[in-house]
Amino acid sequence: MNLEEIALKYFDKEHIESAKNFGGKAIITIKNTEENSSLANSLKEELLTLEGIKKASVIFTKTVDTVLADSESAKWQINGVKKIIGIASGKGGVGKSTTAVNLALALSNLGLKTAIFDADIYGPSIPTMLGFEDTPPISLDGKLFEPFCNFGIKATSIGALIKKDTPLIWRGAKANGAINQLLTETNWGEIDLMLIDMPPGTGDIQITLSQSLNFDGMVIVSTPQDIALIDAVKGINMFKKIGIKILGIVENMSYYLCEKCGHRANIFGYQGAKQTALELKENFLGEIPLHLSIRENSDNGTPIVMANPDSPYTKAYEQIAKNIVKILEN
Ligand code: ADP
Repeated sequence: MNLEEIALKYFDKEHIESAKNFGGKAIITIKNTEENSSLANSLKEELLTLEGIKKASVIFTKTVDTVLADSESAKWQINGVKKIIGIASGKGGVGKSTTAVNLALALSNLGLKTAIFDADIYGPSIPTMLGFEDTPPISLDGKLFEPFCNFGIKATSIGALIKKDTPLIWRGAKANGAINQLLTETNWGEIDLMLIDMPPGTGDIQITLSQSLNFDGMVIVSTPQDIALIDAVKGINMFKKIGIKILGIVENMSYYLCEKCGHRANIFGYQGAKQTALELKENFLGEIPLHLSIRENSDNGTPIVMANPDSPYTKAYEQIAKNIVKILEN
């Protein structure tokens, strides 16, 4: 008997995602059914009687559709906020937060009252980028938190609740509870457009957040690299299943332009995100090159759109902001 045939004795065919032998280690992946440890143990025991199998494990997973069907979606109310857009990415480190703060500033320059909420529980970096790091949020009336306000942007971050060096692990319900509290209990005032810096990826927390907020659309940030794009596409598919409109894709770290010789180096590939947008029939919002000044200004707490309004990078963010506004109006 092969691994799948044995797995079929314990689980229905529709629940067996894969049954593989990795050089003597059998891994059976079961999807969309309640975790049943006694069945899993019996399956493991039987697998271990097979010749050549030294270890066996059974992994329970759920597909996005099942998680969506199971979860409730009571909407969170954020008083005073007219429109909400998310800034999301499939992977961490592709420049999602850098894009979010610079877009917030560019949108504010277009005359919109803009706010940014940092929901990236894995690496909240908005406090550093907007210069309110190490400052806990305060409440003036004992009921609502006051947002930070820098460069005309109101902001707060899930990072404001934790110490910088504390490796805090947010479990699903706790993370969403904390995000809900900080988001809905902040004195935002009148806001035209709120940007939510989403946690990267497509896990439980991202799904609940996406279902709980009345998003007017999602902006996807990716590098042109295949590996980042694969995860970006997963994210796009998840948001669409939830019913969130994709406003478009931003290609970050598109290329590096040598300031000395003008040579253009396509470090992460050539126009991958643009191509992906085309294939998916989604809007391509624009490209931002890789440049030291973008990183340095973010790290210093004055993003480039504020620090250097005339730079070509600022113009690129401004063009993307205009594209977003145009799409939102349609
Ligand atoms: P994410 O939010 O996706 O995890 P960040 O916005 O924190 O990513 O960016 C990761 C790092 O890359 C930061 O140090 C940031 O300053 C830098 N970075 C982001 N975009 C650019 C860019 N276009 N050029 C240079 N550095 C960038």
